[in-house]
Amino acid sequence: MDRTRLYRRFRTLLIANRGEIACRVIRTARAMGLRTVAVYSEADRDAMHVALADEAVLLGPARARDSYLDIERLIEAARKTGAEAVHPGYGFLSENAEFAQACYDAGLVFVGPTAEMMNAMGSKSGSKALMEKAGVPLVSGYHGEAQDDATLAKAAEKVGFPILVKASAGGGGRGMRIVRSAAELGPAIVSAKREAKAAFGDDRMLIEKYVDNPRHIEVQIIGDSHGNLLSLFERECTLQRRHQKVIEEAPSPTLNAAQRETVCAAARKAAGAVNYVGAGTIEFVSDGKDVFFIEMNTRLQVEHPVTELITGVDLVEWQLRVAFGEALPLKQDEIKLNGHAIEARVYAENPTKNFMPSVGRISTWRLPAETGGLRIDAGYREGDSVSPYYDAMLAKMIAWAPTREVAIDRLNRALEDSDVRGIVTNIPFLSALITHPKVRANAIDTGFIERELAVLTPAAPAPGELELCAAVAAIVNDERQAAQGEPRSPWQTFGWQPVGRRQRNFAFRVGHGVGHGPEQKIALNYGSGPSTLVIGERELAFAVAPKDGGFDLTLDGVKSSVAAVIDGHELYLRTRNGRFDLHWVDPFGGESEEHVGEDKIAAPLPGTVVAVLAEEGAKLEKGAPILTLEVMKMEQTLRAPYAGVLKSIKCKVGDIVQEGIELAVVEASGEWHE
Ligand code: ADP
Ligand code: ADP
Ligand code: MG
Repeated sequence: MDRTRLYRRFRTLLIANRGEIACRVIRTARAMGLRTVAVYSEADRDAMHVALADEAVLLGPARARDSYLDIERLIEAARKTGAEAVHPGYGFLSENAEFAQACYDAGLVFVGPTAEMMNAMGSKSGSKALMEKAGVPLVSGYHGEAQDDATLAKAAEKVGFPILVKASAGGGGRGMRIVRSAAELGPAIVSAKREAKAAFGDDRMLIEKYVDNPRHIEVQIIGDSHGNLLSLFERECTLQRRHQKVIEEAPSPTLNAAQRETVCAAARKAAGAVNYVGAGTIEFVSDGKDVFFIEMNTRLQVEHPVTELITGVDLVEWQLRVAFGEALPLKQDEIKLNGHAIEARVYAENPTKNFMPSVGRISTWRLPAETGGLRIDAGYREGDSVSPYYDAMLAKMIAWAPTREVAIDRLNRALEDSDVRGIVTNIPFLSALITHPKVRANAIDTGFIERELAVLTPAAPAPGELELCAAVAAIVNDERQAAQGEPRSPWQTFGWQPVGRRQRNFAFRVGHGVGHGPEQKIALNYGSGPSTLVIGERELAFAVAPKDGGFDLTLDGVKSSVAAVIDGHELYLRTRNGRFDLHWVDPFGGESEEHVGEDKIAAPLPGTVVAVLAEEGAKLEKGAPILTLEVMKMEQTLRAPYAGVLKSIKCKVGDIVQEGIELAVVEASGEWHE
């Protein structure tokens, strides 16, 4: 291949991606004076990345296969807009050699390595064979061609349990199963293969020794087309859930200076083995002492901002310069490590419901300002919709500080100060995670989140005096704002004022819907003289001063900031004690406590039925698996809500099912039912 044709200067860049990474690439490209072209699917017409770009091209229907993954349509979009180069972001086609080749064939600069390099490093098996030759330490295992059951079983025995069965084409933690005994191997391979086939169209497996108490350490590298290759220190991404990173930081708090140099040198050696061009990451798994190569990602990574914050390098800018055919602007010894950075991935998901993705409209989106070491890379805004078609990552919050301790505190403060409503997010979970004493002490491994889940998803705190007062203040404040200009409102400073004292009674219950638990009562006294709030025997003087996103509430002489969102009778409050969802009980509504029926076995979100695990007529114990759905790329198993008999299965493998559709009926059997 002709390198001058591969990498040359261009003015118009097409970003073949969506969400936060498309937005992030557009920002740097624009700062470098480039024209930017976004692409989008029918579900993303109003998406943020479309609004940010200079031009945007509709690719096709919502399904990624028909839009973001359609190579022909992407090349056509570049042709139509005069784009000369393509940035693939991460995910989607970013590691697809066929796409890189198609760009080259169409005369476009692909911002990344060549198809050849991707082919060499893209598959986990292939790259491991290469690394073995280059003398990079590997985790022991089998990464051969033969894929028959006997070969895999023999390899597993030889490696010794526990092992990891892994999709060679894998990514995002999918297509991977830990196997602890020979008996578990067969079913694990079947399900890993199914997931890999669906996600990557390739079900080849490799087998690795499962490293105990594993830590994930990776090195950012970047190479240019002049033979220069640099490492930009390491990141630690040990806090994972289902092999998918949740929190990432740089540098690793686990390594000392000598270990840092060893792992960075190993990474340079790995990338050097293919004369790598572009940004990439060499991933290692560590037992806390040594590091072993697991894979290379031939693209920019989700967590690249932590590296940017400790080195001061804009990696997207460097990617684009390398794509221009320029030499990297710095030498290895000019890359300096400064301070500590930590990132949290904000997802639309519900940690208390097994991290089920949450879809819908973002009715409130209030994140803190990017000052004081805080950076936010977002792909959504207020009013945007989260669709079930794509990854549920909404944004990344990244904090920098001179030390790890302060960086954690800054990130936590930013998470605590965020209010996102309309969908469920993992923000409170992230906050609980990074402030866990073991995380602060770096006493973690990749299994930490799963083990500590109960602590990381605490029950909502009970509202106290402050919250009840804040709830009334929120209603008063809301009514006052709504009534601006309506002369009859009693809340207006000027105009009509009631004569004498009046009382208004409020009752709240915890939670939304109609809430649950006992009603908590509070009264507001107003009229002539200062307003007061009465809870039981206590009467408190209060004042409300509205501000962005809420108000300052002065209660008994103490002023504190309250964030509030009111939607009809549903209140969301954030006070110094945490977040509270309250239901304002309608005194005339005749509401009663609702019992959510758990007996309907229905699709929680739109998805595809990938396995039926029980037969009609079978006796099921409570919790027995009935069927598996693939929802937003993740497998979700639906289980019997109680002991009983499986009366009917209303779907079959391959069915695409809509949210709420009943998929099976379990009849509680009297003698089994609790
Ligand atoms: P993916 O392409 O899905 O990122 P990786 O091979 O990078 O796949 O593995 C994902 C995660 O699984 C790693 O970050 C690590 O936490 C864990 N992991 C991978 N290989 C091993 C291993 N051999 N032993 C223990 N944990 C591993
Ligand atoms: P890995 O997990 O493979 O080591 P990253 O942490 O960089 O690497 O995660 C990349 C993965 O994240 C992709 O494979 C993809 O599944 C997922 N992902 C997250 N957000 C997005 C997005 N906006 N678009 C596409 N993929 C995304
Ligand atoms: Mg990986």
